[in-house]
Amino acid sequence: MSRIASVLIPMPLPEAFDYEEPEGMALGLGDQVAVPLGPRLIRGVVTALRDGTGGNRPLKAVAERLDEPVLPPGTVEFVQWAARYAVDVPGAPLAIALRGARAPRPKPTRVLAATGRAPARATPARAKVLEAAAAGPRSGADLARAAGVSPGVVKGLVDEGCLAEQLVTPDIRFEVPDLGRRGATLSASQAAAATALSEMAAGGRFEVALLDGVTGSGKTEVYLEAAAAALASDPQAQVLILLPEIALTQAVIARVTQRFGARPGEWHSDVTPPARRRVWEAVASGDCRIVVGARSALFLPFRKLSLIVVDEEHDGSFKQEDGFIYQGRDLAVARGKIEGAAVILASATPSLESLRNAEVGRYRWLRLSARHGAARLPDIELIDLRETPPETGRWLSPPLVAAMRETFARGEQTLLFLNRRGYAPLVLCKACGERMTAPDTDSWLVEHRYSGRLVCHLTGFSMPKPAACPHCGAKDSLVSIGPGVERVEEEARHLFPEARVAVFSSDTIFDAREARRLVESMAEGEIDILVATQAAAKGHNFPKLTLVGVVDADLGLRGGDLRAAERTYQLLAQATGRAGRKDRPGRALLQTYAPEHAVMQALKAQDRDAFVEAEMAERELAGLPPFGRLAAVIASGPDAGQLEAFMQTMAQAAPNTPGVEVYGPADAPLGLVRGRRRKRFLVRADRGSISQPTWRPGARGCGHPGRSGWPSTSTRTASCSA
Ligand code: ADP
Repeated sequence: MSRIASVLIPMPLPEAFDYEEPEGMALGLGDQVAVPLGPRLIRGVVTALRDGTGGNRPLKAVAERLDEPVLPPGTVEFVQWAARYAVDVPGAPLAIALRGARAPRPKPTRVLAATGRAPARATPARAKVLEAAAAGPRSGADLARAAGVSPGVVKGLVDEGCLAEQLVTPDIRFEVPDLGRRGATLSASQAAAATALSEMAAGGRFEVALLDGVTGSGKTEVYLEAAAAALASDPQAQVLILLPEIALTQAVIARVTQRFGARPGEWHSDVTPPARRRVWEAVASGDCRIVVGARSALFLPFRKLSLIVVDEEHDGSFKQEDGFIYQGRDLAVARGKIEGAAVILASATPSLESLRNAEVGRYRWLRLSARHGAARLPDIELIDLRETPPETGRWLSPPLVAAMRETFARGEQTLLFLNRRGYAPLVLCKACGERMTAPDTDSWLVEHRYSGRLVCHLTGFSMPKPAACPHCGAKDSLVSIGPGVERVEEEARHLFPEARVAVFSSDTIFDAREARRLVESMAEGEIDILVATQAAAKGHNFPKLTLVGVVDADLGLRGGDLRAAERTYQLLAQATGRAGRKDRPGRALLQTYAPEHAVMQALKAQDRDAFVEAEMAERELAGLPPFGRLAAVIASGPDAGQLEAFMQTMAQAAPNTPGVEVYGPADAPLGLVRGRRRKRFLVRADRGSISQPTWRPGARGCGHPGRSGWPSTSTRTASCSA
């Protein structure tokens, strides 16, 4: 009996395509195959098999079953679920899932091994090389270095046949976690949380817990215990730990390595393609049992995923905003459900969504309310900038500078937090008032002094800072308005010429290694003043950091985002939470023009629950997340008239369902990006009142508004809420 294979292809196609299974190929679900698509052969994954033939429309045949790992059923199901959830085509998440499978394998390297033959002429240098080679094969350069001799000595031994060349493939095996090792001795409250989570993690079924503990309370120690329990429960069990930032990934990798005596698999954008391939294959084979990574690690082909930890679960970086749009935290819960795995969401400032789920009992709620040991939470004070403003052209107010001086005098460290990259967020012509913007995008160009360029942070466009205003031609009239981290660094260096000052932002730290180095040198006390964006403000433990100065506490409150207050609270609570550890009490000073604002008052009183309660009440009244759903539907196109017409058609086809409101069309917050105009609808819906997709403009619609016959206009549906 012939069979038909449905093959999902990692391309923007609406569904899996049917192919005939050639006789004897014996395909299985999840097999990677090569199939003809148009003139090409493309890699795909078998998602279904059924008996039958193409009937009178003969099907093309699967060309080859690839000698590659099989995608486990959970991964295939997850990819399909994620596509439905994100209202996207399944090829989009499949492309993410296959990223590691398509990366090149690590190349074999040339090494030299001792052959046993003695050299005709024995010299001390030669003896040292042979001694080094006895420890195992390695490259010629390595041998010379180890023996402390010139490369010529090594070459001489090769020529004489005492050393021979071998090709070796790098060891792709992962070290086995040592479950005999013990973690830290836990305090009573930590132990209670660890016991509950360990039971969950070893239980072999889906359940979610919110690990809600103040900064420094030992959440990491606690979830590592749960990881140990999961690994011990089954020799095949795998654990995934997700982090929002590469710098944090590095810190957690170090802790996992220390806890289990084995380095975990590392997965994020900065991992080289061969290393990715190695992790991907080892996850698929079950060889790699712990993965620490960024959100896309959720799409790895786990064979037996038993525990997923989402650390800093509130963090906005778990959301992917372009390409395949998804919220990593939500997908983690979905993957947990599909795999029958436990999920731990950890944070000092959980998202309102997760808190709500904990309140209503959908998630287990475990709280750690004190810092570990003698460490106390920092004292938080507000600096009213209306009363004690900085000098003109400066950004640090006298009380903050005085506190920095005291801190420096004690040999302790200061973190100045400003969530703004570059030197100045705006460059303006003082002659004509022109603001420098990107040519094809509605956003200000940010001045970067290190590179001497004006940069669009949205599209990456950049240009040298011009000598004259491009609008009115006035010479030397361009002035830098407002501060970015580089400008605050300049001020700190000016105020404290003898201090060691460093900047941590994505412009100054390019990769994981540099991030690790900077975090280490801060932890070692080699930096006195660190000026940082959010890249450094989260999760790290710096024992000598006792002062955190927030340069512009009001920054995140501007702009009308639904989560502005929540995010500001989370970010500032995280940033101030860096201050004071172990035996050194910390202090945090927040510079603000709005000290009476609820967010500032809650931070000062360190009363998260009061803030959450007030914010929840407002959201509930308005039916906004987590009490309702909110989605943005953004359409873009190069022609303003055509876009407007499209939006009007969309408006007429808008769902007319009780409990669903559609607002708009209106200009999107960024009305022009890369030459395309953008307009937006906002859809608010009661929970449970909408099942995707319900918006079908015209009869041609296929349920996905972006593919409804409007050639130059594209629409994306961005789900904003759980
Ligand atoms: P969190 O993840 O809540 O910020 P961590 O797990 O990073 O907290 O703990 C903060 C610091 O306290 C770390 O340096 C950690 O090693 C230490 N710590 C926490 N709990 C213990 C414990 N039970 N014994 C020893 N050190 C601990």
